Amino acid sequence: GKVLVTGANGYVAVWVVRRLLEKGYSVRATVRAESKGTHLRKIFAEYGDKLEIVVVADITKPGAFDEAVKGVDAVEHTASPFHFNAKDPAEIVTPAVNGTLRALEAVLAHGTSVKRVVVTSSCAAVLSVLPEPHVFNESDWNDQSVDLINQQGADADQVVKYLASKTLAERAAWEFLEKNKGKINWDLVVINPPYVYGPAIHEVESPEALNESLNAWYRSVFKNLHEPAQASSIGYGFLADWIDVRDVADAHYLALQKEQAANQRIIISAGNWKWQDWINTARKFGVETSKGDDSYDPTVAVHMIQYDVSRAKAVLGINKYYSIEETTKDTIDDFKARGWIN
Ligand code: NDP
Repeated sequence: GKVLVTGANGYVAVWVVRRLLEKGYSVRATVRAESKGTHLRKIFAEYGDKLEIVVVADITKPGAFDEAVKGVDAVEHTASPFHFNAKDPAEIVTPAVNGTLRALEAVLAHGTSVKRVVVTSSCAAVLSVLPEPHVFNESDWNDQSVDLINQQGADADQVVKYLASKTLAERAAWEFLEKNKGKINWDLVVINPPYVYGPAIHEVESPEALNESLNAWYRSVFKNLHEPAQASSIGYGFLADWIDVRDVADAHYLALQKEQAANQRIIISAGNWKWQDWINTARKFGVETSKGDDSYDPTVAVHMIQYDVSRAKAVLGINKYYSIEETTKDTIDDFKARGWIN
């Protein structure tokens, strides 16, 4: 089969593309500019014309994906802004929501061979900041972030703007499905990962140019991003859980494979952490880390946000995730090979 992957040059998406190619799929990859396809062509050269690259310059434009969906069996929509720089919330909400809608509209109008659409949402669309520790599941929605941007606009917390963009984009996808029920002969699967870490295979020249999540990991573990006391307390809110990027890629592959995933949102997560867990683990591999907090005791750490991953197990069959040790080791090896740490 052939799968359309949007935003294919991103941190998560390149691993998704790799997994799909390894599993025998052909991939049509969308990027915003021709130059962003060069690295993909290079690292996946062995797959020849099983990888096709198309430019979709503006994913929010009506008809943006009309050509791209023709002849594919499935779509994996990953393209969405992930940064904490929006002034007006619309700067991040609009591409997230409209990009998702344009992808679904194109499938409805022109994706006659499409059987399934997978949307990369996030635990951002699930969690809320609550006064007590809480275990969230797929029935939870982050309406809190949407209320906050509506009330506070540009003054809302930068993280909250991103959380709201993911919440509104995922809601738009399910509403689209509901509204067009009678006309749709494909189904939707939504994947909700927490913070994603692990080695990078996308094009990235320097640590500063890393995507948001891995950049935070790099600076926190190696560059003293946090005060020592924060290293053992942060892991709060959106940053409460994590998953390895390779597990995220597997979930995107399994989401295409499993019939019973139809029309479900599915949380995937390896578990809780504080920055100090990563710092302590990195030290085991003999690298120089951030100063951190030596008084940290993981046995008494409070994790405000936890996720129930039983649906991922039941529906996708995911019962094992990369561990903090495995992900730390592989990421250190990656960063060393790039000369970013020693
Ligand atoms: P990256 O920033 O590495 O990749 C984002 C991708 O989306 C890139 O291809 C980027 O294109 C594209 N994109 C961003 N903004 C726009 C826009 N305005 N118009 C068109 N395309 C755009 O991020 P990740 O790989 O981390 O994120 C991929 C997906 O995974 C996103 O949907 C994100 O919300 C989700 N996610 C990520 C998590 C994480 O911790 N990394 C956690 C949970 C979910 P370009 O390179 O041209 O900017």
